[in-house]
Amino acid sequence: MNDTPGVLDRLRGGVPAKRHNARTIAALTANPGCSRRAVLDAAGVDKPRLAERIGFPGNFGQSRFALARGNGFEAMLKRDDCALLLSVLREVLHLAAPTVSYDDLGADDDATLGARHGRTRELLAAAAGAALIDHPLLTLDVAGRQVFLEPDLIAFQAGGRLHVVEIKSFAIVDGQADSAKVSAAAVQAAVYVLALRRLLADLGHDPALVSHDAVLVCPRGFSLRPTAALVDVRKQMSTLTRQLTRLASAADLAATLPAGVTFDTSLPPEELTAALSRVEARYAPECLSACELAFYCRHEASGSTATLGRPVRDALGGVDTVEEALALAAGTRTPTEEQSEAAALLRAAARLRAEALLPAQDRGNSLIPGGGAGS
Ligand code: SF4
Repeated sequence: MNDTPGVLDRLRGGVPAKRHNARTIAALTANPGCSRRAVLDAAGVDKPRLAERIGFPGNFGQSRFALARGNGFEAMLKRDDCALLLSVLREVLHLAAPTVSYDDLGADDDATLGARHGRTRELLAAAAGAALIDHPLLTLDVAGRQVFLEPDLIAFQAGGRLHVVEIKSFAIVDGQADSAKVSAAAVQAAVYVLALRRLLADLGHDPALVSHDAVLVCPRGFSLRPTAALVDVRKQMSTLTRQLTRLASAADLAATLPAGVTFDTSLPPEELTAALSRVEARYAPECLSACELAFYCRHEASGSTATLGRPVRDALGGVDTVEEALALAAGTRTPTEEQSEAAALLRAAARLRAEALLPAQDRGNSLIPGGGAGS
């Protein structure tokens, strides 16, 4: 009989599963090919604690300054029943309705999350005209466990169209913003759109009523004056859906691990690193901004071409280590059939580099066909 939940509990060492949120679910899309991350996330292992235990603590989360700025910006927008936020939304969503109802479901503790989710369902089921729902609570199934998610706001247009609203504190200057921050916000918004569509379907409504255009509200320039833009999150949603499905199969992969493998963080570091070595990783520089185990995996992968990034790894297919790449470039190693294309590329790169390093006069001569430096 398949006891996948039991296997996942064992992998965690019996401690409660680490709770996911939109940020951690969004991070699942950063390195979809990594089995190690998929297994650890499916089991709900506390990755920051694990990284710390094996001597490679990460450096995650927003700075205190960014958090304070973000909280201040959000509080300003939501003051007086979201008066300022509503003025921005009216513009970007073309909200013509003279009155827009406002419901604040408030923040609460873990014990009352279920009740707030119930209240969100009631409001969504009953909403008719233009409305704002503040502090709504949605759910999403992640590797067989229900995860509560809290978007900043849900906005209704008359006609029943819903939009997820994300408030971020990074600035939009002359219509431009930091692309990495915008894409991170888009993935988070995609998590909420997905959860909201599933809730609507559950309520018997058409999930397509939830727009794939999320509203991003940010400070304009260096002031705290707000501005809003629509962000199409369809691409992020399909990646996310794929990744969530993959997480379910990661639970099956976990079930194939030997019985002794566990990531119980009370174990000695050597046992934890031995357990990690049983699950294949796929390190890429992108891990540094998306996974708490990045410093460990980078260390483990040092000397491999993977540490140089996906484009290099793809271009050097079949050449796994930097040492091999250098030997192929220097012509001191005979390439295998699989490596022949990469080897030709490496030799050409080495030739160009050697030419570029020649003194200018010799470089000129080396470019004369048939002539070489000193001939
Ligand atoms: S840091 Fe390690 S575990 Fe995390 S995604 Fe990258 S390779 Fe996978």
